[in-house]
Amino acid sequence: MPQNTRGISAIVAAMTAEEKAALCSGADFWHTEALPRLGIEPVMMTDGPHGLRREKANGGVLQESWPATCFPTAATLGCSFDRALLRRLGEALADEALEQGVSMVLGPGVNMKRSPLCGRNFEYYSEDPLLAGELAAAMVQGMQSRGVGVCVKHYAANNQEDKRLVSDSIVDERTLHELYLEAFRIVVQKARPWAVMSSYNKINGSYVGESEALLGGVLRGEFGFDGLVVSDWGAVNDRAAALRAGLDLEMPGKASAATQDILDALRDGSLREETLDASAGWVLEFVRRCRSADKRSPGAEIYKKNHQLARAAAAACCVLLKNDGALLPFADDAPVAVIGRFAKQPRFQGTGSSRIAPTEITSVTDELDMRERSYVYADGYNENGTTNDALIAQAKDAAVRAGRAVVFVGLPSDCESEGFDRADMNMPDGMLRLVDAVASVCENTAVWLMLGAPAELPFAGRVRAIVCGYLGGQAAGAAAADVLTGRANPSGKLAETWFASAADVPCAAYYGKTRKLALYKEGIYTGYRYCTAAGKTPLFPFGHGLSYTSFEYSAVRADRYALGEGEGMTVSLTLANTGDRPGAEAAQVYVGAKDGPLRQLRGFEKAELFPGEAKELRIELPYEAFGYYDTQLHRTAVRAGKYTVYVGASSADIRASFDVCAAGLDGPSPAYLDPARIADSETLFGLVGFTPQEPPLRPFTLNSTLNELRYTRVGRLMFDAMLRAYAPASGADEATRQMFERSLGDMPLRAISGMSKGLLKKNTARALVDFANGHPLRGIAYAVKK
Ligand code: BGC
Repeated sequence: MPQNTRGISAIVAAMTAEEKAALCSGADFWHTEALPRLGIEPVMMTDGPHGLRREKANGGVLQESWPATCFPTAATLGCSFDRALLRRLGEALADEALEQGVSMVLGPGVNMKRSPLCGRNFEYYSEDPLLAGELAAAMVQGMQSRGVGVCVKHYAANNQEDKRLVSDSIVDERTLHELYLEAFRIVVQKARPWAVMSSYNKINGSYVGESEALLGGVLRGEFGFDGLVVSDWGAVNDRAAALRAGLDLEMPGKASAATQDILDALRDGSLREETLDASAGWVLEFVRRCRSADKRSPGAEIYKKNHQLARAAAAACCVLLKNDGALLPFADDAPVAVIGRFAKQPRFQGTGSSRIAPTEITSVTDELDMRERSYVYADGYNENGTTNDALIAQAKDAAVRAGRAVVFVGLPSDCESEGFDRADMNMPDGMLRLVDAVASVCENTAVWLMLGAPAELPFAGRVRAIVCGYLGGQAAGAAAADVLTGRANPSGKLAETWFASAADVPCAAYYGKTRKLALYKEGIYTGYRYCTAAGKTPLFPFGHGLSYTSFEYSAVRADRYALGEGEGMTVSLTLANTGDRPGAEAAQVYVGAKDGPLRQLRGFEKAELFPGEAKELRIELPYEAFGYYDTQLHRTAVRAGKYTVYVGASSADIRASFDVCAAGLDGPSPAYLDPARIADSETLFGLVGFTPQEPPLRPFTLNSTLNELRYTRVGRLMFDAMLRAYAPASGADEATRQMFERSLGDMPLRAISGMSKGLLKKNTARALVDFANGHPLRGIAYAVKK
């Protein structure tokens, strides 16, 4: 129960068990329960994370929503390395929440990018927890400074979309803390979000929402979280166990028998009333925060203003991956061939709960038209990414006529979505064929990428320039035009490693290849940690990003070179703009044991400089920057010894380094995984201390997915019935349809009963399980039970 808030315990004491149970169960899809008798009003929360998705009708699966600014997605924003920008965007997003009467926004998400195939990577910032945590903290600070609450999600180790409600992340303690919990720690401690959303998955055999160790122990205990723990929508497996662990609010509200389950548990003694009181107290404290926050009216013009902010942010975050012979920008008025349908219909967001109804959409060609820039346009490919000889011939012709070309390619929208993963890292063949065809006739070819996660770029060596804008929000088209024509200077740095091929990704051999177990055999060696420690060269390294100007790093030094226990240090450097146009650069500081293979990002700072201008950057490194998570001590520890501090323009472009001596624990750090060789399952099981088993397919349980049940007649009937009952509206696009169908197949029966707003009662679900298991009589008994 919140400790310092006067009045909360008195209200809890005045509540009946029924009222407390109702309060902890939410009212509907987006509201908390009201208790008029006690003067408790409901509050509204909606998705996030890169804009508001306030549904027009209250509840259901992906209803139509009110227009709001679709800001650049987290995949784009992660490349900013810019806390100030994230804070500004947080404020802007909060203004729209105020305008639409929303008390809390669900997002940002700070899950790590572990595999480029995760369907939801576009909603996440980075493969690095420091970067993700710092950027998210800035966004949370911005939003909460306006009196709008933030729910940070999805706590934790929720790194795949396939089978996300039933998958079990088998991850060792060091990796869990260093990689998968760290961003949450940073946000919680720096920005005090009002809520944290516990994820769908299990970790090492327990649902996160039922894990006392992860909720009560780590989140509230170690991190000092003092807000509300909310379930992801439909994540609750056993409500009493979830309350015991510290999951305060189940959403969506009034999921089938949610309140009754709590009352039953009180009655049979599996839940103590004090436990329920504590959660009811957190819900009340949350409602109090929402109601008493100092909310200022945002003013009428926010949407127009926010569109411009979204545009500037998208342009700043673009990553100039390659620019041979300074091909870009195409700053003069000479014609240019603009090729690819994405130039007319930009891809700017992904599918799922984060999908915003934008207030406007700008395309590259509209923007060029507005500026009366001359260009020759060709479609290049069809909507689904296929092409044909005629489209290729037109594109080649356009490129030859203009003598220089930019080809817009990426991933079609039905590839990237919440609810399912990509099968491979390929772009559509038609797009690849197009790039090759254009490059074969035009040596001045640039490629512009619109996608939410890395793809293989077989053409990388055959084109002169490549820019990645990721999914840049509703103003992505105008932002691309700004960058292409040199109105804006891109300053994004990759927040994730781009491997040349899917097979190079450390977890490639087993990611998504097991049934329910997700084995984290690579440990902390994901992305750049793997590349630096194992000596691998990716296509584009983490932290990489060029500019239209150039920067020089000099005077790199520290305020001390010997650290006592608990002592941090300040790294300073002078950054100078040595080119001929204004630009911004993010300097990065990495730390590793001296002569050790691993180095990790421990600080970063971005500066905007005019040509010829220089600035001193100061980057604070806390003592823990030299540490690792010690599984004997169950905390971050520093070993006494020598460390190297690297200052670089990317993880692979180190401009200066120096050694530091740190005091700490004696002796070598405990044995951990070998980065040069991905561990086998037995090694991982040794680290986690048990041998996990795939749950048997039969007998079916409430945790069997519809796909598993589809082996039976009952299951097939059920799937078809659900598909008919809940299918997205007939106007829905292919991406939404796919998301719905694939998520449905991966849904366990217990979640369907929750998400169906009481239509599929829990006893009906139990009955179906019995029918599927060949126990029709027991099934009938359940079916007729109230
Ligand atoms: C997603 C959450 C989202 C919630 C509400 C869930 O399926 O995982 O990120 O906030 O739905 O739409």
